[in-house]
Amino acid sequence: MSAIVSGQASLFASDVPKRPTLRPYQDRGVAEILACLQRGVDPLYGLPTAGGKTTVFVAVTEFVVGLGWEVWILVHRRELLKQASARLLSMGISHGLIAPGEPLTDDLVQVASVDTLGARLDQLRHRLARVRLAIIDEAHHVVAAKWQRVLDAMVKARRLGVTATPFRYDGRGLGAHFRQAIEGPTVAELIRDGYLARPAIFAPPAKLDLSKVKKRGGDYVAADLAKAVDTDELTLPAVRHYARICGGVPAIVFCAGVEHARHVAQQFQAGGWEAASIDGEMSVQERDRAIRHLASGRLSVLTSCDIISEGTDLPIVGAAILLRPTESTGLYLQQVGRVLRTYEGKDKAIIIDQVGNVAKHGMPDERRLWSLDGGLKGLERAVNATRRCRHCHFVCAKGPSACPHCSRAYPKPPMAAVPEVALASMPSIGGVSAEMIARMKLVDILPLAQTEEDLRRVAAIKGYKRGWVQHVLNDRAATKAHGYMQRRYG
Ligand SMILES: [Zn+2]
Repeated sequence: MSAIVSGQASLFASDVPKRPTLRPYQDRGVAEILACLQRGVDPLYGLPTAGGKTTVFVAVTEFVVGLGWEVWILVHRRELLKQASARLLSMGISHGLIAPGEPLTDDLVQVASVDTLGARLDQLRHRLARVRLAIIDEAHHVVAAKWQRVLDAMVKARRLGVTATPFRYDGRGLGAHFRQAIEGPTVAELIRDGYLARPAIFAPPAKLDLSKVKKRGGDYVAADLAKAVDTDELTLPAVRHYARICGGVPAIVFCAGVEHARHVAQQFQAGGWEAASIDGEMSVQERDRAIRHLASGRLSVLTSCDIISEGTDLPIVGAAILLRPTESTGLYLQQVGRVLRTYEGKDKAIIIDQVGNVAKHGMPDERRLWSLDGGLKGLERAVNATRRCRHCHFVCAKGPSACPHCSRAYPKPPMAAVPEVALASMPSIGGVSAEMIARMKLVDILPLAQTEEDLRRVAAIKGYKRGWVQHVLNDRAATKAHGYMQRRYG
């Protein structure tokens, strides 16, 4: 090993300098990331939206630049480029930008738009070969081909991925791109410690028909979806609920398409609110102006399809209205995460869910398990179901016997067929305890109960009649036979 490399290793081994500006968990994150890099391992750092991931990776940058490393920070949105650049400036780290209209500089640190970099790849190839650390912001996008081309050109570089959703949007893992997962604090921990606002979720009943919406790549087809949700039956109640629940708090509305976002903004205007929509077809200046107006209070409501979901920092925003159903837990978390930032005078983050996203993906602060290989673990979602108050439509995790918002008692659940004590001694079904099974819906239980013995236990727990097990078995046999006939005879 050369003297230079061993010299770096010894520097790595020294204590990371104390930084009073970093929160304790950020400090810990920086140390864990540096420890990985020291061992020659590419880490993926997961930190919930608004946890301050830019602060963490800029602190890492500052440290390794001190060792003479060339560090390139890769982003896929202009907002993220601005954020990283501003944070580097605030810490006095000189850097260049690889972005339209920006000249190439000699700085060791570069913040690069992945699109611009892709277009200049041949011209920058010798420079990219010198990069020692590639920091990938919003790293769940790394699976895309344009990212791979750029990363392949950085032949010597270690990789650090940072993201609030350390799995692909389809729920799968990122193990092909990173070697070690580093988990920051959970949303619940950040709320407890006052770093994030507490969500207050309302899910008023809404008219929504997704039966004609096809799915592709794990989520709804955008054009079909926009058609299904761009209706007065969905939009007009959203305007009313905003007035009733939020009363003018600055809000963002997540829509399913550009046209949908425009129509929703028009309906809010018709309802007497200062509202606007932003989309990728507008100029950067127009978009920035609308965002500034929301921040200054001149606008109450800003609607958008996907411009606001990642990288837009709007702490003043106190409410999110969800009008875009999604099958992607990652997209859902990115959206609700936008309003969880704390702000003076903001005691909670209101989320109005008109499309069933919270019921499908769980509370924003539910603990979600992920790994590099398996991605997001789905089971917790089914188990930790949410509960909606039928009077005020407030949503919370199951547990309390009365609505935490309006204090009305929830209707009593039907008595379990088996007493709690007996449940505790029953074997699990498909890896889920009998106590959990007693609280789950049948639709979530059936995929777990694979054998006849499993089904008998379910029937006992739920108090189903004698014929139920046989009925399910007959039904399964018929489905199987149908599949066989189709394969055999077309
Ligand atoms: Zn209630």
